Parts: sequence; C-alpha cells; structure tokens
Amino acid sequence: SSASPLLAVRDVSVVFGGIVALNGISFNMQKGQILGLIGPNGAGKTTLFNCLSRLYQPSKGDILLEGESILSRPPHRIAEVGIGRTFQNVALFPNMSVLDNVRVGAHCRTNSDIVSDSLRMPWIRSGEKALNKRVDDILGYLDLRSVAHTTVSGLPFGTQKRVELARALAAEPKILLLDEPAGGLNHEEVYNLGDLIRRIRDDRGITVLLVEHHMGMVMSTADYVVALNFGRKLAEGTPTQVQNDPDVIKAYLGSK
Ligand code: ATP
Repeated sequence: SSASPLLAVRDVSVVFGGIVALNGISFNMQKGQILGLIGPNGAGKTTLFNCLSRLYQPSKGDILLEGESILSRPPHRIAEVGIGRTFQNVALFPNMSVLDNVRVGAHCRTNSDIVSDSLRMPWIRSGEKALNKRVDDILGYLDLRSVAHTTVSGLPFGTQKRVELARALAAEPKILLLDEPAGGLNHEEVYNLGDLIRRIRDDRGITVLLVEHHMGMVMSTADYVVALNFGRKLAEGTPTQVQNDPDVIKAYLGSK
C-alpha cells in the first residue's frame, strides 16, 4: 500500500563477533497490523526483537517509527515514543500486587504535560487521578480487577502473562512487542491469548509484533507474517501465503 508505515525496518544487519545474526532485513509494519515474526531456531527472531526494543544496536541499517529513527534511544527511553514490550519469561515485580505492577507500567509513559501540571499545582493531583483511572480501566479490560490486590507471585502463569500485557498497555503504546507470549501456556490458554491480542488490536488500534514459536497461534492471530532463516528474510505475506511458501516449508523441515 502507499500509506507510510508505522514502523519501517530498513536493511538491518547485526554481527556478533564473526556471526551474522541478521543480514539486511527490511519490512514494514502498517498501523493496526498484527505482524508475526517466525523462523526456525537461530533464525534471528530474538536478535531482531532486541533491536526493536533497543537492547541491541544494529551494525547496519535503520529502524524508523513514524519516519523517525529510534536507534539513538536507549531501551529505557522507548516507552516514551510508544514502543511497549513483554518478556519471554514474565518479568513482573513478583512481590508486588497486580495493581502496583500495572501502575509501574502507567508511570513509564506519563504524559509530560500531566506531570508538569501536577508539579505546578500539586493540590490538584490531576495526573495521579488520570493515571488511576487508566490503570483501573485496563484492569477491567483484561478481567484483572478481582486480583488487583493479589501478589503477582501467587497467581497462575497464564494470569501473570495477562498482568504483563496490562502493564505494557498501561503505557499506551503505539506498538506492542510480544516475545513468545504463548511459551509455557496450555492449548486453551494459547488460543485465549491469541483472541485477546486480536481484541486489543480491534478495540485500541494497537499495532502488534508477535515473535512466536507456536505456529498455530501465529497463523490464527497475525494478519501478516515475516519468516526469517539464517538471519535473512525468507518470505513475507499473509499467513496462508507464508505457510504455503516452498522455501518456508523447506526451512522448517530442514530444522527438525
Ligand atoms: P530461537 O528460536 O532459538 O530463539 P532466534 O530465531 O531467536 O532463535 P537468535 O537468538 O536471534 O535466533 O540467533 C540468531 C543467531 O545469532 C544465532 O546463530 C545465534 O547463535 C547468534 N547469536 C544470538 N545472540 C548472540 C550473541 N549475544 N552473541 C553471539 N551470537 C549470538
């Protein structure tokens, strides 16, 4: 399409010592898209995810959000431009309540106008009020109100994953990066999570990048799929196109 992409990955390469983990990767993400990133072990998915979340610096190429490079931003400054993420293994504060974990997420991207308002007029505390409302809305949206005051470590793993989503959403991201969200979940939980991701996109217009091993989940959740192999882009297209791509089939059979 001719619409300018929300995110553009342009000719990104990453070299570790002598190993070329990513080799000239380019693709676009359109606003509101759920893009699945797949590939056999060692294909470069995690490396690309880490470039997007700014943990790794590409050796070459650029990553543009709404036309502006994000490469000068350190990982702790990407929430401000609207990139949110979750982790492969849940990375919540285990001894804090669900509510407090989600509040931390909301604080990661508190509108600077709201902050300066409440600094100028602390008796109004409008920022805090707006933040509390945002957090409560998200808890309701993800069906977490009943466990708001429960300590995270006491919750089932599937619920913890939902709390992590809530925390990421509380920062009001434009793009949500999900690192293997289906890992450790049972069959039913995987498909519920896929439905939830689609619902979040439909209701909130959030663009999602999904790195995932669970092929069924990617194919039923993503609108568009990019397949990597040995650090190169192997194929891209709709889930059906990519699933039927001879190179993709060969790469997966070869990796078994
Ligand atoms: P998996 O599905 O197994 O997680 P992946 O698709 O995420 O694999 P990456 O972890 O990105 O693949 O790895 C791509 C290549 O880069 C591999 O050859 C890997 O050994 C190498 N690699 C990744 N991280 C590093 C690192 N920090 N130092 C050296 N080599 C690395």
